[in-house]
This record gives sequence, structure tokens and C-alpha cells, in this order.
Amino acid sequence: MTPASGGFAAAASKEGGIPVRERYEHFIGGAFSPPASGRYFSNHDPSTGEPFGAFARGDAVDVRRAVEDAAAGQSAWMAMRPAARGQVMLAIASRIRRDLDALAWLESLDSGKALWLSRLDVETCARYFEYFGGVADKILGEVIPASNEHLMYMVREPFGVTAHIIPWNAPITQAGRGAGPALAAGNAVVMKPAEETCVTTLELARICVEAGLPPGAFNVITGYGEEAGQALTSDAGIRKIAFTGSVETGRRVMKAAADRVVPVTVELGGKSPFVVFDDADLDSAASLARKAFVLNAGQICSAGTRLLVQRRCVPAFVERLTRELDKVRIGPGVEDPDIGPVVSEQQRQRVERYIEIGRAEGARLAYGGYRPADSRLRGGYYVAPTLFVDVANSMTIAQEEIFGPVGCVIPFGDEEEAVRIANDTQYGLAAGVWTRDVARSHRVAGRIQAGQVYVNDYQPIGVEAPFGGYKNSGYGREKGLEALHHYTQTKTIIVRTAPDGATAG
Ligand code: NDP
Repeated sequence: MTPASGGFAAAASKEGGIPVRERYEHFIGGAFSPPASGRYFSNHDPSTGEPFGAFARGDAVDVRRAVEDAAAGQSAWMAMRPAARGQVMLAIASRIRRDLDALAWLESLDSGKALWLSRLDVETCARYFEYFGGVADKILGEVIPASNEHLMYMVREPFGVTAHIIPWNAPITQAGRGAGPALAAGNAVVMKPAEETCVTTLELARICVEAGLPPGAFNVITGYGEEAGQALTSDAGIRKIAFTGSVETGRRVMKAAADRVVPVTVELGGKSPFVVFDDADLDSAASLARKAFVLNAGQICSAGTRLLVQRRCVPAFVERLTRELDKVRIGPGVEDPDIGPVVSEQQRQRVERYIEIGRAEGARLAYGGYRPADSRLRGGYYVAPTLFVDVANSMTIAQEEIFGPVGCVIPFGDEEEAVRIANDTQYGLAAGVWTRDVARSHRVAGRIQAGQVYVNDYQPIGVEAPFGGYKNSGYGREKGLEALHHYTQTKTIIVRTAPDGATAG
């Protein structure tokens, strides 16, 4: 089904469940709340280019109010027994699943993401609440056997109010990915979604409160990064910051955290190698290579965009991969194609600029490199899947994150060279290794500098596996139990238990 031109509201209301709002306000203290300044900004539907929606333009005044309400929300949240907190999080997961179709529909309209992928993202968001809800009453301390005259024990406590700045490529999953562990550990959340994609983060916060989260425990401030985002990272009430986005903004956020001596975790994207040895199953490798750099129109931080292919099998691999790219259906997100548009005209121009740079630097365009010809897609921000071959790893398109459906085939000779090229990057988020040689798969996986390495697969596992970067891909881990530790601080309590007058040991 194609939404009518400018028909964001009409199309979404057809899905039922969650109506499209005329105006999107902040979500503060358990209720939608207008911005103090009275200012709003508008967005565009990436699939059609039509304007839609009015979104509260947050500033420091709104942020302050949200952080104050979050402090009250955190007290109420912590007053509940841990098991009861876990039960609320499980109730949230059920509510998300109940509204899965409606949330996915809104996500696709707002971001341009293909509907099938939005459905997966909403399910993943539910899984974050389920997974972390399950550990809310299992955040254990330790007894430390240091002295016979003392009882020494360590407990894990929440920070208080945590700030979460999330990007536009997977809004509802990233909202769940941050809020899940933060809430499970007993914190309250203030979140700023990217200005391009605010809708599902706001609806998620509403669902959380309706499912039993105390008002104030999950707040959302919409607005611009330099205004609302910056105000959030510098607010005096924030005790921990989690950021996902570009390296450049990540550095700014880390500096803001340093000024306030607040812990920060940053997930900053990548330029992940997808290494194909000539003994690999080339059909599977080509099929997963398509997923690696085309999924979500390439707007995935762990996208496998550097296709390192052993020289002898480059022609066979490229032939298979181009056949795979022929199959990619591109269209409006809500029509459920394989991929939708990129998120904005600005992002499309950025991707197209990189395609021009690739040509100018001497890489050979083997596929795509243009806007789709279908006249129905003229208004949206589409980029056809694009493949460069004969790419040198030193080229700009092999070194910089493009965040569009653009892959680069980089030939290598032997294992040593593959590892050297794989690691010759400022990033280190993810990597794929394709080989039938078991010993080599472990050897290479062990030598690649990346937070996650997949062997004969790509991005197969979601919520449970720790995820995060080496090098400029960031610091700290999202997902899995590892994420939980970033949302607690330890306190050691030492109690003298020896009778009065006894000497300490
Ligand atoms: P940014 O890193 O600028 O944006 C990410 C988030 O940070 C958004 O919510 C943004 O708000 C916010 N933000 C921006 N400036 C500040 C600030 N000074 N203080 C606090 N928060 C701030 O990414 P862009 O949207 O500009 O995308 C540019 C490139 O970044 C992409 O092409 C891609 O290469 C990379 N990127 C990587 C992502 C990843 O998952 N690792 C995700 C998104 C982008 P607002 O949207 O209002 O500016």
C-alpha cells in the first residue's frame, strides 16, 4: 500500500492502534508536554519527501524540567521492589508486542525503513525490556573476604538520571537498547531522539508509563542536537550519558561529559570488513554481503561495507553479488520493499558525494551509483544499491563511514594481508570472516580489532551479545549483561564486626 501524497496521517491511521498526532510534544513526567518556548519544527516523510508533523523544539528549559521530573521518577522507581520493577518491564515488553504492527508502521513512515525491518526492530525493542526486565532482581553484589574483624560487601547502585542521545537509523531499537539496562539497574531516563525520527521514541515512553513505569522514569525531549542534545549532556542533574552517532558528535559529547566528570559510553559507527577467503561458500557470502551493506539502505553502524575478497575469487564473488543486488526491491518503507530511502535529503546528498569521490579516486563502479529511475520514487530520498570494485583501502570510500547502500570490493592476496587491511581503519565495530577452514576462522577472528566478529554469517544475533567498538568506534558496550554494568556504580561497605577492644586483623 502506498501512502497518499502527504498522507502520513491518513496512511498511519489506516493501521489503527496508535493515531498520528497533529503535534508531537515532549514526554515529561508521564505526559505529553509542550515546549516552554512554544517553538516546533517539522520533518519530511523520507519515502515521499512530503512535509509532515510538528515536533517540539526542546531547549535547556525543557531539559531541566525533564531531568527534575526524572529525579522524582527515579525515587518512585527505586521505591518498588526489584522483582516488581522487572515485572513492569515485562509488562512493557507485552505492550510493545501488542502494538507491534502500529509501532512498525509509524517507524516506517517516520524513517523510511522497510516495514519488515521495522517489525523486527519493534520486536527487538520488546526483547530489550524482556531481557533486562529479567535481570532487574539479579543485580548482585559481593562479599569480600578481607578481614576477620569486618564484614565487607559491595553493592551495585544506579547512577540516578541517565541521558541517552540516539540517532535516526534504528530509533525504537536504540531507545530500548538504552532504556532497558538503564531502567533495570534502577535509573530514570531522559532521551533525545534524532530530530529526523522522534515518533516511536515518544510512543515508547508513553507505553512504558501506561504499562506501569512511574511517571518521570522515562522522559523524551525532542529537538536539535546543538540545542536540546547539548543542553542534556551539560545538565547538572545527569549522572551518566549514553550516545550513539557520529565520531565528531561523539567527541563533543565526551568533552561535555568530561567537563562534568560524568561517565559516558559512545557507539560511533564503523567501516566494517567482510573478509571472504577463496575457500568460502561464495553463494552464502554474496547473499550475506548484500545484507551487510544494503540492509536499511546501508544506514547501520555495523554495516559490512569493506568487502575484502581474496584476489583469486573476486570475479566469481562480484558476479554472485551483482545477481543479489539485482533482486533488491526499493520503495516506500510502508510498502514493505527490501529497502526504503535514506533518512533525509541531506543524507542522500552525503551518500552521493561519496559516490562521486569514489569515481574521482579511481574506483570502478560495478553496480548502481544512481537514483532509482521509477518515477513514483521521485519525491523520496532513494539511492540505488551501489558497488565499487578495484578499491584500494586507502581511498576515502574505504576509510569513511558513508551510511548509504554502498559497498567496496578490496582484493587481498593472503591471510596476513587480509588481517592487515581489515585493521587498517580508524574504526573497529564489527567484522565478518568467510572460510571453510575452522582453524583460520578462529585465527583471523582473534586478530581482527573489532567488538563483534561473525564467522560465515553477518549480524546474526541481537540483544544478548555485547556490542560496541574498538578504536574510534567507541567506548563501552551495549546489549547483553555487559551493558548493565555501565548503568551501575559500586559501593563498598565495611562494617567492623569485632567486639569492642579487639584489635583489627
Ligand atoms: P550525529 O552524530 O550528529 O547525530 C546523532 C545524535 O546526536 C542525534 O540525536 C543528534 O541530534 C545528536 N546531536 C548532534 N549534535 C549534538 C551535540 N552537540 N550534543 C548532543 N547531541 C547532539 O549524526 P548525524 O545525524 O549528523 O549523521 C551524520 C553521520 O553520522 C552519518 O552519515 C553516519 O555516518 C554517522 N552516524 C552514525 C550512527 C551510528 O549508529 N553509529 C548513527 C547516525 C549517524 P540531531 O539529530 O537533532 O542533530
